[in-house]
Amino acid sequence: MKNCRLCKIEKTLVKKSHIYPDFLYKDLYDKNHKIIKVSTEEIIKKNPKISRPSSGVYEGGLLCSDCENRLIGGKYESYLADILSGKNKDVKCTKGKSGDIETLKVENLDYERFKNFFLSILFRADICTFEEFTDINLGPYNEKIRKIVYENTFTDDLEFQLNILKLDKNSEFDQLIVQPFRSKLETETCYSFLLKGFLITINFKENKTSKTMKDNRLKQTGEIIIPIIPKSTERKFILTYLDLK
Ligand SMILES: [Zn+2]
Repeated sequence: MKNCRLCKIEKTLVKKSHIYPDFLYKDLYDKNHKIIKVSTEEIIKKNPKISRPSSGVYEGGLLCSDCENRLIGGKYESYLADILSGKNKDVKCTKGKSGDIETLKVENLDYERFKNFFLSILFRADICTFEEFTDINLGPYNEKIRKIVYENTFTDDLEFQLNILKLDKNSEFDQLIVQPFRSKLETETCYSFLLKGFLITINFKENKTSKTMKDNRLKQTGEIIIPIIPKSTERKFILTYLDLK
């Protein structure tokens, strides 16, 4: 028996731990019912080479069943799945505008569960040994994030500042799942992932870039503003984010 990477207790570990939750892969299948998945390097090309694994990414020997199913599945993923499916009736979403940019205002989120769901993806991507996750290297933050995810801890909303941007409904990146990637923004670390037409960014500490998005961040009050990136600027925007412009 080995120690579970999340609770650190010696236990039987599950044979298949997933990185991205299964519900994210729903509706993301092509005609052959294979998942459409693209690497960040491929995005810069005009016609991305699309790889089609038949299921999500799994790795065994990382987590115990309690952490995998009860904590990550039961506490975090089910919460997100219920929001996305509309089953959660507490969360309110209203359309708005900020200058020329259309926005979505989401309210009544469970601040810790919502935020820590995304941190749990980063944690899992960090402990996963597969090559596609080598960009995720949390270093000393691994232990800090492990504790936050394990205990569903409250963190200040400027620490691990969470922002979400939505792609236009006609976006060419709409149906892609892109593995988490690291952006070099100033001296601070920022990790992002592109999921189901949403670009999620986590700035570990306050920096020049995070400050420009501060007003839209997930706040302790359970509110977040999601700007919608117009299709005409999305490619430039995403490439800038990937630092591949
Ligand atoms: Zn465990």
